Amino acid sequence: MIKTTRRQFLASSAGVAALGLTGQFAFLPSAQAADVRKKGYYSYNVGDIEVISIYDGVWQNQGFGDIAVDVSEDKVKAALTSAGLATDYIPIEFAFTVVKTGGKTILLDAGTGGQLAPTAGLASKGGFEAAGITPDSVDTIMISHMHPDHIFGLMEKDTNAQVFPDAELVVSETEYNFWTDPALIPKLPERRQGLAKRIQATFPEWKNVTRFSGEKELAPGIRAVESFGHSPGHVSFHISSGDDELLLIGDAVIVPALFLANLDWQLAFDADKEQASATRKSIVEKAIADNTTIGGYHFGFPNAGKIEKDGASHVFVPATV
Ligand SMILES: [Zn+2]
Repeated sequence: MIKTTRRQFLASSAGVAALGLTGQFAFLPSAQAADVRKKGYYSYNVGDIEVISIYDGVWQNQGFGDIAVDVSEDKVKAALTSAGLATDYIPIEFAFTVVKTGGKTILLDAGTGGQLAPTAGLASKGGFEAAGITPDSVDTIMISHMHPDHIFGLMEKDTNAQVFPDAELVVSETEYNFWTDPALIPKLPERRQGLAKRIQATFPEWKNVTRFSGEKELAPGIRAVESFGHSPGHVSFHISSGDDELLLIGDAVIVPALFLANLDWQLAFDADKEQASATRKSIVEKAIADNTTIGGYHFGFPNAGKIEKDGASHVFVPATV
């Protein structure tokens, strides 16, 4: 599993020296993190399962006053500063995961497809190939939820042509039904209507979409875990083999510097803010109690590591092999 040394991490990071870190998990020096980011991917094992994390870039979000409900721009900037980040933008980073299990190559979410921000889309600009993944080597794509940064990588920019026409797409029934309901569009906030229209123009035409309900074993060692709130049918993916486990939480928590450090903040993009807050808290508490390794889609890169308590707050401590 993932290992580095705690001393290296503490020597390279501000604001985490108060952590009481225990166990064999250890932490990543910032120079090593920079190398991983430059390379664009890294791989590790969860028991017998090979996992590859792929970096898809960052959206330099300027909405300081809009990202969290009733939280001022100054407070958002102060939280970025406390995490050792610059305050010229909110880094909405993207990283998704490939899992090789049961003889199959499975993508967990499909990235931005280079259709969100000029600084994102690295996977489709060579990142996949660098990690040894070609479109025809992908057997299955499991979707945590149907927001643009998770599904635009499934479709070409202008034509909506399928990027992975031979791969099975797997999505929760709740999520699929929500977005493909024609009555939905007028009920959505304007910023989401284009997304719903694009989904409705594409997914129902595709022959390779499989829907599931409940907390289902989707492939050997991959189980869907309902974590609703960010979107109506949002799921996390629990990867396990032997005694080893990894929970890919999708967008149950985004930008740790803001929403992990301040568990009481509500994310303005959450579809059901109360439900999303409850989901976020329960995932964080359980991850700490069980010492589970977590992978976040928006946790930066490397994107897998541990959540640790830091006084009344929490931090994400990334790790790599
Ligand atoms: Zn997202």
